Amino acid sequence: MKRFYGVSSIPTTKLFINGKTVESQTTEWIDLYNPATNELVTRVPKSTKAEMDAAVSSAKEAFKSWSKTSILTRQQIMFKFQNIIRQNMKSLAENITLEQGKTLIDAEGDVLRGLQVVEHCCSIPTLQLGETLAGVAKDLDIVSYRVPLGVTAGITPFNFPAMVPLWTIPVAITCGNTHVIKPSERDPGACMMLVEMLQEAGCPPGVVNVIHGAHAAVDFICDHPDIKAISFVGSDTAGKYIYERGSKNGKRVQSNMGAKNHGVVMADANKENTLNQLVGAAFGAAGQRCMALSTAIFVGEANDWLPELKNRAQQLKVNAGNVPATDFGPVISPEAKKRIEELIQSGVDEGAKLLLDGRGLVVKGYEKGNFIGPTILTNVKPNMRCYKEEIFGPVLVCLSADTLDEAIEIINSNPYGNGTAIFTNNGATSRKFVGVNVPIPVPLPMFSFTGSRGSFRGDTHFYGKQGVHFYTQVKTVTQLWRDSDVTHSKAAVAMPV
Ligand code: NAD
Repeated sequence: MKRFYGVSSIPTTKLFINGKTVESQTTEWIDLYNPATNELVTRVPKSTKAEMDAAVSSAKEAFKSWSKTSILTRQQIMFKFQNIIRQNMKSLAENITLEQGKTLIDAEGDVLRGLQVVEHCCSIPTLQLGETLAGVAKDLDIVSYRVPLGVTAGITPFNFPAMVPLWTIPVAITCGNTHVIKPSERDPGACMMLVEMLQEAGCPPGVVNVIHGAHAAVDFICDHPDIKAISFVGSDTAGKYIYERGSKNGKRVQSNMGAKNHGVVMADANKENTLNQLVGAAFGAAGQRCMALSTAIFVGEANDWLPELKNRAQQLKVNAGNVPATDFGPVISPEAKKRIEELIQSGVDEGAKLLLDGRGLVVKGYEKGNFIGPTILTNVKPNMRCYKEEIFGPVLVCLSADTLDEAIEIINSNPYGNGTAIFTNNGATSRKFVGVNVPIPVPLPMFSFTGSRGSFRGDTHFYGKQGVHFYTQVKTVTQLWRDSDVTHSKAAVAMPV
């Protein structure tokens, strides 16, 4: 199967409109560089207004027939889609490593976690069941259906270029909607490959369209009257803006945003496992996961484990994502690297101790890459910038607490709410946490991704039952079929009592 990436001598990312890959007519392009080398990989178009209009028109037209296909037809497409993704896991991962920088194995994980959503959508006939009730009143039937909304849209971030588009596309379309997606302009390749695979699985033209760009494309989605719902995943700034602008325009919006996930380390935990999990969850993917465990609170005697934590972190191998045995790769851009290094320095300036400094790392053979080694700041206090801001890099900030209650107080005072974990062997203590001896408690697709507080805006969450609820509206039909012919002599004008 021909793929977009790497087959063309002109390094441009195409649009996907009405089932066709289209070269943009734009004059404005965003250069996309390999984070490990800073070599140009492709140029991503800022779609023109006409191209974005064409994408929505195509989705609107496709909705007329797609929404009437049988749910079993849509299910069958998902079965085929999941099979094609599985067969192309490696090429998807290669594209992710090239454009995003994460290691090949981690990139496969990125695809797999999205693939699981596709697999869950294979059970859409059950997921989309409506409700009814026997004997609601004599001869009266009330039935509720979950029906699609129309044209829906996705706006996705750079850190999971396959997984997050797969949080939106399969759920939206198996529910009978059509979809316009704007993947991150920093790594849209995986999304392009996925929509091509979806077409190969039998999805008709127009059901999913891909546009590219930055703010103008986002505004277009927020404002277009034919788009009924927006799924957004990304930073706080963009998420709040999109939630507000989309909602003002009468759209349903779900907005998954930034995080500052805390892990509480109790001295009764399994030390070996805890330190390994902490290191994996803080530094994996160079800390560029919304569920990265970026903040650790060591309670009481667990503070003595810090030297060993440093020792383990130091052993991680930082290199280009395609180099075998690499633990984590570069961060996304030189700007991100600069920002992360500044945040590390701000911690030092505000009185934190730099237990491990990953700044200034040069990787042999990849001297121009955006690398930062594992970094640990200790003695961090909640008023410091490095604690308050999401760093989104390979930096673990460590706080200390005398008691579990004090640790919980710190967590509850933090505005974010994506995931918190505790490491303990005490069942009673663990009840208060969403992750127990699991550093990254991302819910599997049969559940929903239930971020809260400052990490989420909206009512219904991504994927699982809540994802189906987000992408459907309830239509309730009330019908009266009398068993025997009853003729009323007079109109009933009062409410029945
Ligand atoms: P980002 O907000 O920069 O970009 C996300 C999308 O929004 C992109 O498509 C981008 O084009 C658009 N965008 C960016 N800035 C915008 C603005 N000012 N106005 C309108 N649109 C804008 O996010 P990112 O850097 O690509 O991704 C990293 C962020 O995403 C982190 O904060 C991370 O925690 C978050 N994230 C959250 C989850 C979650 O489920 N909560 C999952 C993954 C990533």
